[in-house]
Amino acid sequence: MKTLLIICDGMADRSIPALAYKTPLEIAKKPNMDWLAKRGISGIMDTIAPGVAPGSDTAHLALLGYDPYETYTGRGPFEAAGAGIDLRPGDIAFRVNYATVDKNMIITDRRAGRIQDTKPLAEAVQKIKLKGAEFIFRSTVGHRATLVLRGKGLSHEVSDSDPHEEGKKPLKIEPFLQSQEEVVPAYPIIAGGVRKYVMRRRWAAKTAKLLNEFSQKAHEVLKKHPLNLERAKNGLPPANYLLIRGGGIVPHLRPFQERFRIKGACVAAAALVKGVCKLAGMTVVDVPGATGSVNTDLNAKAKAVLQQLKDHDFVLLHVKGSDEAGHDGNIRAKIEIIERVDSIINQFIDAFDFIVITADHTTPVGVKNHTADPVPVVISGPGVRTDDVKTFSERAAAKGGLGRIRGKDLIPIVIDLMGKSTKFGA
Ligand SMILES: [Zn+2]
Repeated sequence: MKTLLIICDGMADRSIPALAYKTPLEIAKKPNMDWLAKRGISGIMDTIAPGVAPGSDTAHLALLGYDPYETYTGRGPFEAAGAGIDLRPGDIAFRVNYATVDKNMIITDRRAGRIQDTKPLAEAVQKIKLKGAEFIFRSTVGHRATLVLRGKGLSHEVSDSDPHEEGKKPLKIEPFLQSQEEVVPAYPIIAGGVRKYVMRRRWAAKTAKLLNEFSQKAHEVLKKHPLNLERAKNGLPPANYLLIRGGGIVPHLRPFQERFRIKGACVAAAALVKGVCKLAGMTVVDVPGATGSVNTDLNAKAKAVLQQLKDHDFVLLHVKGSDEAGHDGNIRAKIEIIERVDSIINQFIDAFDFIVITADHTTPVGVKNHTADPVPVVISGPGVRTDDVKTFSERAAAKGGLGRIRGKDLIPIVIDLMGKSTKFGA
């Protein structure tokens, strides 16, 4: 039995006045999705929980059956894993921006003129050695990079150096203090809370100190780098500072295959989604032409999905463009990407036993951000108990036989339909 899970990022929406109170999914022409709804079972899904607006990372963790409240501490580890760094549980990972600072250390461009090709800069930065931790630094896309700290006694509980604003100085990285309330219980001696808290504070202080030293060293290396001197000569902002943010500790995720006894592959362009799948032990495919944007090459992705079918029982296909359209408030683009996704689905109908379509969260074009509205979901395949739902949309799915489920219930339901679940009890 083979299953395809299609996740259209942020595809779900709210009723839009300009569309006579319909949603982009209701307006889009999507005969394949509707056909799947007709012969499948539909429902709505809170990817994390009712009222919780999910990030794409926490939503994907939940959709793969992991509890994000147990496994998620920050975005850094998933970006780093998606960038191809081999992470170990306990590593501390951050997102990094190449930025431009002037002589007075004022940030003049948070993205260093959207610099491309930063590989030579990363190679120079990677040579920085500091006592107390191993530093792994890698450029990813455009002005972005990722930084991993490996070693004993480190912590992700530190602040960002990125002030998220130009015209300011980079912030000094500090150990978090707010964890005090979380960690010190009412009877700390009995619970051993104080000792644990002191350790965490010490580790956070050490990590913050290391990161500040690293930032300083990196600035010295970068401002003298030939590539930056060349940029300055050409009137381009030099990438002479690294803004660090989004720290998290690499979780130990019990591998997907071990948990569900199926082998999974992931076809995605977004580093974040690739990272989640990689940390879950799935095969992650790089698809040339997949951009993680509305102009992505969906046919190349479809081809990659069919290739993975040979060695895997489960393929996750992620499409990012629908979320981008939501963030841009672009109704037309959202409808268009839904129609484009629909047009590749007929290639999958004979190849897979089960096809599941959903979104990781709602990104209404009227809000331009993620909201907690539940997303529609349809599961189509042999033996599925069908319902009266005839089309795929937020409104139609709410009347479906699946009712309202949580994101982490989805894979167990699919596994059971695939005949791979084990009985609980005798
Ligand atoms: Zn998302």
